[in-house]
Amino acid sequence: LNGLNKINNRFGYLAGDTAIEIFHQKLQAIARPGDKAIRIGGTLFALLVKDPMHEGHTLLAAEKIAQLASEWIHIAKIRLRLEANIGVSLLPSLADSAEELIQQAEIGQRFCRTVDERFALYQEKFDNKDGTVTHSLFDAKHAIENGEFRVMYQPKVDLKTSEPIGAEALVRWQSGEGLISPQNFLSELERSRAMAHLLQFVANSAARDVSRWCRYKDDFSISINATSSDIEDTDLVEVLKGVLGMWDIDPSRIIVEVTETMVMNDIDKGIDTLRGLQELGIRTSIDDFGTGYSSLAYLRDLPIDEIKLDRSFIKSVTEDAIDKRIVRTLIALAKAMDLSVVAEGIEDKKTAVALAMMGCKIGQGYYFGKPIPAKQFEDEWLKKATVETT
Ligand code: C2E
Ligand code: MG
Ligand code: MG
Repeated sequence: LNGLNKINNRFGYLAGDTAIEIFHQKLQAIARPGDKAIRIGGTLFALLVKDPMHEGHTLLAAEKIAQLASEWIHIAKIRLRLEANIGVSLLPSLADSAEELIQQAEIGQRFCRTVDERFALYQEKFDNKDGTVTHSLFDAKHAIENGEFRVMYQPKVDLKTSEPIGAEALVRWQSGEGLISPQNFLSELERSRAMAHLLQFVANSAARDVSRWCRYKDDFSISINATSSDIEDTDLVEVLKGVLGMWDIDPSRIIVEVTETMVMNDIDKGIDTLRGLQELGIRTSIDDFGTGYSSLAYLRDLPIDEIKLDRSFIKSVTEDAIDKRIVRTLIALAKAMDLSVVAEGIEDKKTAVALAMMGCKIGQGYYFGKPIPAKQFEDEWLKKATVETT
């Protein structure tokens, strides 16, 4: 089970223990006669499924457990939610002994956490051979102190003129094995509670770079990504206030991206945080818009300045009539609410043109440019642009 640290910190150990106990009961309730549901460690559980008809049966059980774990739990006046990562293995087809069975299930479970899946059937490649995943589990924690993180910038462009209007800061981990993308280490970083350092690092880099880049374009902005732990465990607003204090920049040059899900997890706290950012003068944005659980009822009340339409809609906008209608509607919705709209993940000219014609003003994606290091961004996107316009 994940999320217990947060619960213990925010609501106390009693709430944490009760949540674990409720989950344990649910697990016992789905065990059939002959199965065993056991708590084998603090937040570690095992379900032994005896003689499953075939392996799909165990995966169905895993899916069901993941779903049960993530149901809302009400304890006194608190409403909270856990999350399970589940590794599955089979005896005798994968493991040779009971000990190996548990070991493989644990490896599968750790793998899930790194790739942010809810459950996985053990595969040999999850072992150390697939270095990046399991190996990175340990190194990520020290990476920040060792200065192994790099911030890359991807341009956000005006779809009419193709001029850069801003950039998104996207972090990479420079490990011994090369550049590792955030999807492979963010959940581990979150678990090791080192996420606050990453936020501090990325926000600082962004503020420093934008203070230089505003010389080329005074309305240039940099977007940074926040995670749910930045809202729940760290005081995002305080961190950014500190950063703004260090760099003499106009706060509206910084945009903070959050996702719908992050805000909806704890709607009051989410709104407070977004409002706090806006009060500092920072702009706020909803990332991957359209993929979280529907928030139209809340959207009206959210203190946001921008929405970023998720790549999954943009990808097929020129081919799929339904996606086209969805995007058109979202653009209209944003307009009606006076929000900026950014289309993410534009990979070809056709898509860029189609979006511009649909009234979308800002775009981002490989078609315009991939994320690149700061120095290169400045040379290719800012110096060049000023030369051309003067
Ligand atoms: P995101 O914020 O939605 O960022 C967009 C992701 O899509 C980036 O992946 C970017 O490289 C990729 N992308 C951009 N244009 C295209 C395109 O045309 N086609 C395709 N296929 N992909 C495109 P990246 O850099 O791997 O980041 C993944 C996610 O990790 C980000 O999604 C963001 O949620 C998170 N992340 C990145 N940097 C940070 C950070 O500094 N802090 C935090 N908390 N999260 C970060
Ligand atoms: Mg983003
Ligand atoms: Mg996105």
